[in-house]
Amino acid sequence: MITKPRDREVVCHASAWEMGGEGDVRIKMCTKVTGEDFFTVHHELGHVYYYLMYEGMPPLFQQGANDGFHEGIGDTLMLSVTPKYLVDIGLFDKVPNTAKSDVNFLMKRALDKVAFFPFGKLIDQWRWEVFDGRIKPEQYNAAWWKLRTEYQGIAAPVERTEADFDPGAKYHIPNNTPYLRYFLATVLQFQFHRALCQTAGHEGSLNSCSIAGSKAAGKKLADMMRMGSTRPWPEALQAIAGEDKMDATAMLDYFAPLAKFLDEQNAGQICGW
Ligand SMILES: [Zn+2]
Repeated sequence: MITKPRDREVVCHASAWEMGGEGDVRIKMCTKVTGEDFFTVHHELGHVYYYLMYEGMPPLFQQGANDGFHEGIGDTLMLSVTPKYLVDIGLFDKVPNTAKSDVNFLMKRALDKVAFFPFGKLIDQWRWEVFDGRIKPEQYNAAWWKLRTEYQGIAAPVERTEADFDPGAKYHIPNNTPYLRYFLATVLQFQFHRALCQTAGHEGSLNSCSIAGSKAAGKKLADMMRMGSTRPWPEALQAIAGEDKMDATAMLDYFAPLAKFLDEQNAGQICGW
């Protein structure tokens, strides 16, 4: 299912599926032609190619090295969707080249990737505390908003009570999908990107790198995916990144020009809430 059916209600939340081997892989998505869905389809295709790569493994090992890996593959490729890449595939007329264009590009990405961190953390924090009883049913909504304020610095625009169940509006909570995977994937995708850009022989800033067309980078990524879960995840990380620990410095490298800009803009300001 690639577009929303006109004749019935469906779950539009995008997902990727392997249907039991022999290359039968599918995506279910109510795709619209937007920048956001362009990203989502890369994300889902990351799952699909992971399925295809480890299909030769025994069924027990047909999984990502850890679930952060599975969520991070498509996102890694999306980091190669640079303005120049968009020109190369005919979606942009020319690469914008003003003093501000790099910072604008990075700011948009940071609002997605960096601003996601506190949210990515608190979802499972809420779930785990519900599961172990620290959050009682009569505190479900209040505990949710406490975390939202503590980590994200936001509050509900109107008064909320325990008659409301705001966590239920996040798909993964009623669907019972663990969420820390997305937090891990956010760190890993920049680490993968930095390593693959080195393999591809990229020179210049990390945010201007696209591995599109690099056979060497593609092989490295595919070889790692082929391992499935046969080896502990640090070994899979070693295979692609040459290091066996998660490392957020790749993310700092990627956003360095933006961080410099924001440091200047925010000089003298007090951060926090
Ligand atoms: Zn996913």
